[in-house]
Amino acid sequence: MRSLKFAAIIAAVSWFINPSYAQQLAGEKSLLPEANYGNSEVTVEKVLGYPLGTKITSPADMSRYFEALKQAYPKQVKLLEYGKSWEGRTLYYAVISSEDNMADFDGFMQGMQALADPRKTNSDKAEQLIDELPGSIWLSYGVHGNEISSPEAAMMTAYHLLHDQREQTQRWLDNTMVFIDPLQNPDGRARFVDRYYMSVGLEHSGDRRSAEQNEPWPNGRTNHYLFDMNRDWIALTQPEISGQIDALLKYYPLVFVDLHEMSGDSTYYFTPEARPYNPLITESQRETLNWIGKNNGQWFDEKGFDYFTREIFDAFYPGYGASWPLYQGSVAMTYEMASARGHLFDRTDGDVLTYADGVQQHFIASISTIQTVSERREALLQKFWEYRKSAVEAGEDGDVRSIILPAKDDPAAARKLASLLVEQGAEVKQAEKAFDVCGTDYEAGAYIIDMAQPAHRMIRTLMDKQVDMADDFLAEQEQRRNNNLPDQIYDVTGWSLPLMFNVDSYTCDDLPDVATAFVEEGRIEPGKVTNPDAKVAFLIRWGDMNAGRFLTAALREGLEVRQSELAFTHESAGEFPSGSLILTRADNPDGLQAKLKKLAEASGATVEGVDTSWMTEGPNFGSHNVSKLEAPNIAIAWDEPASPYSAGHTRFVIERQMGYPVTAIRTMQLLQDDLDGLDVLILPEGAYSGVFNDKSVEKIQRWVSDGGVLLTLGRASAWAVETGLLNTQLERKVPEEGVTEPDEAIKVDGKVIESRDQFLTEIKPHGADPDWVPGALLNAEVDTKHWLSAGVKPQVVSIYNGNDVFTPIDIDHGRNIAWFAGADSLLASGFLWDDIAQQLPYKPLLMWQPSGKGMIISFTQEPTYRAYMDGLNTLLMNALFLAPAKAQ
Ligand SMILES: [Zn+2]
Repeated sequence: MRSLKFAAIIAAVSWFINPSYAQQLAGEKSLLPEANYGNSEVTVEKVLGYPLGTKITSPADMSRYFEALKQAYPKQVKLLEYGKSWEGRTLYYAVISSEDNMADFDGFMQGMQALADPRKTNSDKAEQLIDELPGSIWLSYGVHGNEISSPEAAMMTAYHLLHDQREQTQRWLDNTMVFIDPLQNPDGRARFVDRYYMSVGLEHSGDRRSAEQNEPWPNGRTNHYLFDMNRDWIALTQPEISGQIDALLKYYPLVFVDLHEMSGDSTYYFTPEARPYNPLITESQRETLNWIGKNNGQWFDEKGFDYFTREIFDAFYPGYGASWPLYQGSVAMTYEMASARGHLFDRTDGDVLTYADGVQQHFIASISTIQTVSERREALLQKFWEYRKSAVEAGEDGDVRSIILPAKDDPAAARKLASLLVEQGAEVKQAEKAFDVCGTDYEAGAYIIDMAQPAHRMIRTLMDKQVDMADDFLAEQEQRRNNNLPDQIYDVTGWSLPLMFNVDSYTCDDLPDVATAFVEEGRIEPGKVTNPDAKVAFLIRWGDMNAGRFLTAALREGLEVRQSELAFTHESAGEFPSGSLILTRADNPDGLQAKLKKLAEASGATVEGVDTSWMTEGPNFGSHNVSKLEAPNIAIAWDEPASPYSAGHTRFVIERQMGYPVTAIRTMQLLQDDLDGLDVLILPEGAYSGVFNDKSVEKIQRWVSDGGVLLTLGRASAWAVETGLLNTQLERKVPEEGVTEPDEAIKVDGKVIESRDQFLTEIKPHGADPDWVPGALLNAEVDTKHWLSAGVKPQVVSIYNGNDVFTPIDIDHGRNIAWFAGADSLLASGFLWDDIAQQLPYKPLLMWQPSGKGMIISFTQEPTYRAYMDGLNTLLMNALFLAPAKAQ
């Protein structure tokens, strides 16, 4: 304790005497003394009232600053909007270049579009474009709102480009378009900045125990719905990312940099990236990454900044900002600066890291990269052209010439997937007639993707079912695991969109011969009402998100909706799966027809009017197997100890994808207040045992018995087991043969170890938890005979993250609604360690346990993970809307 106090005093003293704080680095000039900023014009101090680097600028002030630059340099600066954040802040990027380049901005855009499509542009034209076009770079700052220094560096970079009168800087602008997205996550930054300045006292504190250094839940990293947007670049669930992709696809900037912060005890990281490499990244791209890294290294050497490369931060997962552009032929990378997380940070090596240090180093890395792009302009344009050509050729020559998505089983999901591909620069067509190809018949409406197109690798990245890591890399990870070291896999290893959406996709070595139309962006195809004047009722087939959105909208409109737990066959309208919705004329007021039309259009659902209630099979509308649905009051635990991601993703999926409001209740409030009036309580992933005491467990138990539906996700389900709410168990690792329980005695009988193998077995731990899985996609089987799986296909795909393994719940206590598939078909995509792959088959993914009038529904993984596991949405909707009807 004493030495800590002493360190704090030293830090406080150094705060006054260390010239690197405040005195040396304040204002633009201090960040690059050799620059020639003339009369300095539009400094941060002139516009915002404080020297650059001395304050963490708010999103609103950042906008003011960029506006001021545009006002002062209208011929060199463009500010373009690409959307609004959830909290209504404008998302924008700046384009900065020479006056000549900016005068022909549209010409530049058209030139890049032409160079991006070798099917329309011949080699002669390409040569001319490569000769004439400026180079281009896109710098994206601040995707994580509490990684604070990069947006300030964005302001400095823009300032520098416009004010530095030295020939070098002007030469860069003469042949380079610089795109600056200064703030990808304004909502997260606003949350950070407000909270930070609220916690500051007389002096800033770098003490990492101080309120300044510790953010409350949720921290500023995420956006409004608590997404890590640096994982969202494949599913495009958030406007901050989908808007940015729209813009990138207009210009195909040759180089893309995403600037972050990491631990304050580290230094600076830049490219080349770590292993595992994604095999779809080309050698030519890797060469460019080296050029950029090497030039950065020179600048950092000159300035005396430490850095590292290669050791962490891989680009295997394509959903990072720093990986997505790679699959379009650009070169993309992440930069990471040690974070001061405020004005000051006491490092463990005794140094004080300042906010301005971060600003300066991100600025230097930014201009160093601009320099590389400028100096390598022609080579980069050439490489981009070659890449786009090679992408088309790979599609022409590859085994997979086309991918086909039949839009039959789940038209809503197929439509969304087709739109997502189009949004990411792919061409997708839709068959206007039925056709057959590669021995399979397809109906009209099937989506067809011709793989011979420039976005070939992007499509493969999103659609391939498996992307392998190199064998030697995996062998190294096995070895690390044997030594109890964490693996070096940074994120999930499986992300195939058709699997995550549970949509069938077929590959073929040929192109179908059928009339087609291009698919336009649009994730929901408007639905319609057939037989709108029907006398008796309207029916909606259950099992896709069109029906799901229809249900939530109908409940919010106050319509009377019934749901059949069993499949039925209607005399004239045909077969309907279990879970299908029924709205009778008798239940609902006049004007139903107009309301249904509106709801069908918005939700995408097909609403079928029927003139009789006669069934040829299955229950009639008045059966006890048909439940009347009420609009449930759905609450979610919000705040510690819930994982912000899980809480945010779950709230997002229910509110913005299903269209239904959620009451977010702070966890402490759940402890103090009663739970009356709640129909469903969701506990997102989180370690609840530290917060919920026995009394709160009793209260939840009582509420469940009285008719509540408790929905636990991921680790919250483990908590439900630990507290006895859920009658099953958690498993340790399956003991390996020869691994024995350790003898507790100090002295034990001697034992001969005969081989290295036996030696390795001897040192293995006993009773350990299963090995941690970094995120794979697993197949699961569904008990389709239960109402909780109404409308759900017999197989679903789930994410598997972490190492929780539950024993199946026994039949006396409940039902296993979904469980992981047998060993032969367990892995859908990604990577699993051998031993957990043997342990997981037939272990539950979803359990249901009735309790009094209510029930507990437990997902052992997160169905709302990153809001991209769409294939689990119907199960989730049944738990949210049908379960409360069953509980009453
Ligand atoms: Zn980050």
